[in-house]
Amino acid sequence: MKRFKVSIEKKISRSYEVYIGQDILDRAALLITKGNWAKRYFLITDANVYALHGQRVADIFKKMGLSLEEVVIPAGERSKSMATAVALAEELLQRGADRSSGLIALGGGVVGDLTGFVASIFMRGLPCIHLPTTLLAQVDSSIGGKTGVDFPAAKNMLGTFHQPKAVFIDLSFLRTLPGDEFKNGLAEIVKCAVIDDPGLLELLEEKAALLTPDGEPDALVPIVTRTFEIKKKIVEIDEQEHGLRRILNFGHTMGHAIEAEADYAIPHGEAVSIGMAAALALSERLGHLPAADRDRIIRILEKTGLPVRIPPGMNSDGIISRMQRDKKKEGNVVHFVLLKRPGMPFVNGGVPDVLIREVMERL
Ligand code: ADP
Ligand code: ZN
Repeated sequence: MKRFKVSIEKKISRSYEVYIGQDILDRAALLITKGNWAKRYFLITDANVYALHGQRVADIFKKMGLSLEEVVIPAGERSKSMATAVALAEELLQRGADRSSGLIALGGGVVGDLTGFVASIFMRGLPCIHLPTTLLAQVDSSIGGKTGVDFPAAKNMLGTFHQPKAVFIDLSFLRTLPGDEFKNGLAEIVKCAVIDDPGLLELLEEKAALLTPDGEPDALVPIVTRTFEIKKKIVEIDEQEHGLRRILNFGHTMGHAIEAEADYAIPHGEAVSIGMAAALALSERLGHLPAADRDRIIRILEKTGLPVRIPPGMNSDGIISRMQRDKKKEGNVVHFVLLKRPGMPFVNGGVPDVLIREVMERL
């Protein structure tokens, strides 16, 4: 099991430990006991995760002597709403939660974002611990302290920054993860490799075929660890997304527009993968990125089973107008993260629409 410290603003009081490994629940239980962050814990999970892992996790924690109660919410993105947040807060209140209580999020991004959000506002803030169970949550949403709920028309509309007390990334949860959900996480892994770690990109090139839920754990551990380290480094420098953290949006400018245009029928990872292919094509078209680098990264995406083309029937005008709506929010420029070469991204604030259209038509 590997152990890292994430130091936000270098203030010790707000730093927290992240543990990564296979079958680390016993250690997690011990460390939560030692951490002594709360007198009583509520384990928040969704119905799917509860059925697969909830009882086992709860048993291990209770055996360690932790006072723990399970709270199960419905699975799916719809639970990431203000209504569920309020219902969860009411449930906690009814069960006697108070300022000495703590929340443990066991699940994917939905459970993590919702639990983090409620933890940040319930009685002005409770300690929160993350046990991410999807690859996406393990390499992305559980690190960085972002919490939030969606509005019907806008994702992550209401949210806070609330740094957890600890994060336990147990890769053994992934054995039960459906293949499509796994691919969602792979897209963020490729993204991190592209923007910050050419060595990781090489590793992905070699191991792409082994990266499946029941694949070689030994192949996955170093890949998840390195992706985590990239994200950790970036959020440490830029906790509140003022500057550097923007490069994490590589592939996301168009990715978010594609997701919304498809009414969220296309999973986040797939949309981001297509968005990355577009950003690579734009980088090449604008003379920043050699064509060989573009082709190489596209091949890696394809090898992991991610899409690199806009699905037939999807309207490119619709995607462009969604990006423009976002642009109004951000002071009239579409911020594309582009690439000079692997490990060298930059934020470009002025890509002409005609070029975007041209690139999309060729995808
Ligand atoms: P993310 O935002 O991280 O993709 P979600 O919270 O939307 O995650 O979870 C995606 C789906 O996967 C949900 O239906 C959830 O119940 C399910 N899920 C989460 N973790 C696991 C797991 N380890 N095994 C099987 N299904 C899981
Ligand atoms: Zn993402």
